[in-house]
Amino acid sequence: SVKERGGNGYELFHSEMEAKSLERILLENELRKAIQLGQFHIDYQPKMDLSKNKIIGMEALVRWYHPELGKIPPNKFIPVAEETGLILPLGEWVLRRGCMQNKEWQQKGYPPLMISVNLSVRQLAHPYIVEKVREILEETKLEPQWLELEVTESILADVGHAADTLQQLREMGIHISIDDFGTGYSSFSYIKHLPVDTLKIDASFIRDIHKNEESQAIVQAVLTLARTLDINVIAEGVENEEQLAVLNEDGCVQGQGFLFSKPLSGEEFEKYLIEFAEIQPSE
Ligand code: C2E
Ligand code: MG
Ligand code: MG
Ligand code: MG
Repeated sequence: SVKERGGNGYELFHSEMEAKSLERILLENELRKAIQLGQFHIDYQPKMDLSKNKIIGMEALVRWYHPELGKIPPNKFIPVAEETGLILPLGEWVLRRGCMQNKEWQQKGYPPLMISVNLSVRQLAHPYIVEKVREILEETKLEPQWLELEVTESILADVGHAADTLQQLREMGIHISIDDFGTGYSSFSYIKHLPVDTLKIDASFIRDIHKNEESQAIVQAVLTLARTLDINVIAEGVENEEQLAVLNEDGCVQGQGFLFSKPLSGEEFEKYLIEFAEIQPSE
């Protein structure tokens, strides 16, 4: 009967809720432990100049291998880290480790590359974020022009404060990129009020750019806007030659995606530099 089904439905819903919050609590506890134990590492994904087919930098992407639970994807644990505030120590670790690694590659004699680090809204909103970034750069001796911070459009929830902080970071010489661009807000007009260097077009527009006129039109609009405002554009999630051809045709000069390389461990990234980018550390 309806009543029975209603009852079952409720129970199912109820136990799903319980399971969900249990999973969350488990994840939160494990995350806390993992931060203390240092269970994270970073993968680096190359960013390319499409016209020259040359590497220009890499994005730092955090990875968590839990000893029992195995590989846990960022889309699962980053939201929990953000809700609990654990993103502050975790994000700080990624920033420090990424800057350190980039400096290490420069000291080995590889041509200097830009490292992009994702910065969550929670980190950007922290009152001491500017001091913290400055401290990490001093500590790792990485020059600010080799650091880029990727922030999402959700920072616009508090645009006044965010713009202020981004401005201070930019005055230090750090680059600012808007990640997942095009997904957050319906209007692009706010961009002129924000101190940004790069718009990173969301992968959802690139996925079908070669098949869908609307996606291509959006990408073209972003490229036109960026040209007017004199800011860079990078396409994320470039997976095949057809997408690349459209991007080249439309004049998009930077890209990132599986077509060029998946995210690589530090050692793999160094091998990539030598073997594929044919870059040797100079003596
Ligand atoms: P994101 O910053 O937009 O990073 C791009 C994501 O797309 C990465 O997923 C990357 O592995 C994936 N990707 C790259 N190329 C391709 C492609 O050609 N095709 C497809 N299908 N995917 C591609 P990942 O590493 O799983 O990270 C997911 C998200 O987690 C990131 O999205 C970012 O929002 C967040 N995240 C990762 N690391 C950090 C971090 O250290 N701090 C913060 N705050 N967030 C992070
Ligand atoms: Mg990113
Ligand atoms: Mg993105
Ligand atoms: Mg994303």
